Amino acid sequence: MSELTEIQIPVSEPYLTGEAKSYVLNCLDSGWISSKGSYVSELEGLFAQRIGVAHAISVSNGTAALHLAVLAANIGPGDEVIIPDLTFAATANAVLHCGAVPILVDVSLQDWTVDVGLIEAAITDKTKAIIPVHLYGNLANMTAINELAARYQLLVIEDCAESLGALYHGSPTGSLGDLGCFSFFANKLITTGEGGMVTTNSSELAQKIRSLRDHGMSVSRRYWHEIAGLNYRMTNLQAAVGVSQMAYFDQFVEKRRYIEQQYRHYLSKLPGMIFMRVPPQCQSVNWLTSVRVDPALTGGISAEDIAMQLRLQGIETRAFFFPLHQQPPYKADDVQFPVSLLLSNQGLSLPTYYRLTNAQIEFVCRSIYNLFSVPFTSE
Ligand SMILES: *Cc1c(COP(=O)(O)O)cnc(C)c1O
Repeated sequence: MSELTEIQIPVSEPYLTGEAKSYVLNCLDSGWISSKGSYVSELEGLFAQRIGVAHAISVSNGTAALHLAVLAANIGPGDEVIIPDLTFAATANAVLHCGAVPILVDVSLQDWTVDVGLIEAAITDKTKAIIPVHLYGNLANMTAINELAARYQLLVIEDCAESLGALYHGSPTGSLGDLGCFSFFANKLITTGEGGMVTTNSSELAQKIRSLRDHGMSVSRRYWHEIAGLNYRMTNLQAAVGVSQMAYFDQFVEKRRYIEQQYRHYLSKLPGMIFMRVPPQCQSVNWLTSVRVDPALTGGISAEDIAMQLRLQGIETRAFFFPLHQQPPYKADDVQFPVSLLLSNQGLSLPTYYRLTNAQIEFVCRSIYNLFSVPFTSE
């Protein structure tokens, strides 16, 4: 066996601009390297404007954003929060670290987001909130979720970590519920290295989140603590990178949509390569182009087979998340999650990043065609 080929095409890579470097140097030269400094408020202002909300509160990462959102909603021991079974663990961890219980709900086979037909049955008198996760940039059915939330007086916290840039009936993700939580990890649409943001139109929730992220300290009286808080602040260094990224927002979104179109164009021609359904009211953002590989239709070729074939060509891919219900902290043995399990087994994410070229996309697709023994033409 030969050594594994070096990775030529990663699944994801950040695009950092020249402005990023000069803004970061400004921080270093001026000494404003912690969370005080003009880039922090500038980024919050740009972000609030972009999402169309009254308040954007920067935080140290996306998990902190979720944790603060759940804390600010006064959710704690004895409470339940509904989340999809197929998501990154941070969604569930935020609920658990508030002392509440995440109630898992299966996802939709077509959309891959929470199955809204199953939410109502999961609501009890302990339910306080729903956290829809906009997986791979596809927006959950917010109309149905907001209707249920209104009927049962629940809070809606969007997990927007993968959906920045997506629109629902023309409105940006992060403005569709009571609170929106974003991540700026290196593989997200906008990155600050590590970082995150909470968005809301509620002044009360915004004030509480600002206080919680800064030790629960009184704004008018320093070192007087009104609530027990945390230190989840974003640094000026991170915000400087964030401000530089915001200038490329539209280009980032456009390029990712284009990449998905290309992959869909080529791969939809193969049997059993199934893309998520984007609901008509939703303009998804394609965080990572992802495909479900159904071996019953591909002639036995699995997502894992494709991953291995691509890896031999120096192409990196990414498996889907494991269903939460199977993992020790979230175990739910008494409920079935057939769709989440199926997607987790059959899902595969393909290289998706700003600098990915047409030739690289074609190379990825040609490698997959080879495995299917189908001749590839770039038409
Ligand atoms: C990335 C991500 C998060 C967490 O963000 P971090 O910044 O890495 O803490 C939360 N939820 C989802 C769905 C994510 O993809």
